[in-house]
Amino acid sequence: MTSANLSAPDGAGPSTGITLTWNNSFAQLGGDFSTRLRPQPLPAPYWVGRSRSVARELGLDAEWFESQAALDALTGNSVLPGSDPLASVYSGHQFGVWAGQLGDGRALLLGDISTPHGLQEIQLKGAGKTPYSRMGDGRAVLRSSIREFLCSEAMHGLGIPTTRALCVTGSNAAVRREEIETAAVVARAAPSFIRFGHFEHFSYNGQHAQLKVLADYVIDRFYPDCREAPQPYAALLEAVSEKTAHLMAAWQSVGFCHGVMNTDNMSILGLTIDYGPFQFLDAFDPGHICNHSDAQGRYAYNKQPNMAYWNLFCLGQALLPLIENQEQALAALEPYKTLFPEALQARMLAKLGLPDVRADDKALVESTFKLLASNKVDYTIFWRRLNGFTAQSGHEPLRDLFFDRESFNAWALQYSERLAHVDQGLRADLMLKSNPRFVLRNHLGEEAIRAAKLKDFSGVDTLLALLQAPFDEHAGYDSFAGFPPDWAASIEISCSS
Ligand code: AMP
Ligand code: MG
Repeated sequence: MTSANLSAPDGAGPSTGITLTWNNSFAQLGGDFSTRLRPQPLPAPYWVGRSRSVARELGLDAEWFESQAALDALTGNSVLPGSDPLASVYSGHQFGVWAGQLGDGRALLLGDISTPHGLQEIQLKGAGKTPYSRMGDGRAVLRSSIREFLCSEAMHGLGIPTTRALCVTGSNAAVRREEIETAAVVARAAPSFIRFGHFEHFSYNGQHAQLKVLADYVIDRFYPDCREAPQPYAALLEAVSEKTAHLMAAWQSVGFCHGVMNTDNMSILGLTIDYGPFQFLDAFDPGHICNHSDAQGRYAYNKQPNMAYWNLFCLGQALLPLIENQEQALAALEPYKTLFPEALQARMLAKLGLPDVRADDKALVESTFKLLASNKVDYTIFWRRLNGFTAQSGHEPLRDLFFDRESFNAWALQYSERLAHVDQGLRADLMLKSNPRFVLRNHLGEEAIRAAKLKDFSGVDTLLALLQAPFDEHAGYDSFAGFPPDWAASIEISCSS
């Protein structure tokens, strides 16, 4: 463990003298797991967005977070004393096909620091080429970095497990994608960035000793209870399945589409990770495909829970050399099949404002989804307006969302009857913290990105403030909670980032 004064590099301004305690735990796993290297500097970096709440949670000095030294360090233009940056190696299944070795092609792990909230790893995404960059340039563009920054914080605001984003910095350095764009770096934090693909890597390469080292590391740090189980590695698989089931329930309940659920984008901690072509549903369309590159719709909204199970199966396959007994591996995956629907049901009942469960509630949830789909109702607006529904009111604002009024009336009757058995105070509390007013719709992100390209970062700040507290009313910000404009439908988000 190294403790170092966080002093600014030469000529980069005075140090504020805070101390970070770096553990560099992942680096200590050894050279089979990663390559140590320094980030590649970017010219004349500038701040694009900063999450001061993440800085606080990481225990970073507030004054330092405003300094040139912080800007340099979090762009990768200087290395924080005591950190030991590295790129880790992983493999994975992409769009259902074994893709072989991938790895951190543009993300650098600075190490893990001790924080008031436990050990947290800090990564710089877009910090230059690594041995795993393959054909890539090691960079991330401003557009996708703003999306990752805002969505990480939006998900956290919604109470959904996710990697966090500390900040985005930008540079005028050109980056070639479909067109020339500019570079940016996201500094992100999580207890661990280990993916299913890390396990697949060592398993498929027959490196079973390393596979065991990795699994033991994950168990000891994050799943210590598994150590007590008769078969710790099967217990690990089951624990990851459980976390993933809860994550899928959370995604489905808020209408979040990830877009690239490849096994290299699945967190071993059940966190939302690697924000690319994600989208929050506007109109409710169960088969919605948010990723323009996903022609087959493998990762369509309604397929996500099954794709997560498919990915867990890959993880199980990768862990087989340690579990040794195929039956045990299969048994460890089994609970997902009941946990996911139960967790989704619990979330949907909360959205409906039902604090307890009754026999017909499953049918009520199903008929709600059906009604939303057949009327293509705006998903977020429906739920938020439902907060104001009472059995006695005429429910005009809600009915206005439906073109098939008769179906709506029949549903409203069913719901009203159910509400007769519910304490209205409890219901209001539950709905207020279950039905957000603000989600990161594509067009909102797009507007902030367009302004940021012109060096106006106020839109990023505004969205961050709204999305960090998405259940609050935020008077005066109605347009951020409204329907998407017509042009939103023409936004095409692909894997290009
Ligand atoms: P993703 O689809 O963004 O999760 O990335 C899949 C793989 O491609 C990962 O190994 C990434 O590190 C790598 N990758 C994506 N973009 C780049 C890039 N611009 N430069 C280097 N590697 C990249
Ligand atoms: Mg990825």
